[in-house]
Amino acid sequence: MSQNSGKPLVSDDGKNSATIVCSFCPSVILRPKSAKYVVKEDGLSIPQMVTTKKGEETKFESDSVKDFWLVSDMYDFENVGFCNTVDSWKYLACADCEIGPIGAHKIQTKEFLLSVERTMQKTAD
Ligand SMILES: [Zn+2]
Repeated sequence: MSQNSGKPLVSDDGKNSATIVCSFCPSVILRPKSAKYVVKEDGLSIPQMVTTKKGEETKFESDSVKDFWLVSDMYDFENVGFCNTVDSWKYLACADCEIGPIGAHKIQTKEFLLSVERTMQKTAD
């Protein structure tokens, strides 16, 4: 098994070919082929992910996120929760370690956007 946080691994039909897992715990967020890879050219502003791990503070500098896994049904997720709501956006967090935001959901739409760079891809290579 190997983990990859770089280039999105996309299958011929534009879906995730790897299992998407949390960057901080082994929790599986998406099974292969359950989300579509999308790029938001203008970027989507998501609050910085701040976490305390063994007394160390990890900060992600970029607020503008462009690469996403698009999920149109909440039930396609294996493990996901909500951390906070700002205006018309609900932010997604890992259901196990509750670290986030790892993505965003616009309320009253069926768009769930999971950040590629804030999650890990796990392949069976
Ligand atoms: Zn986690």
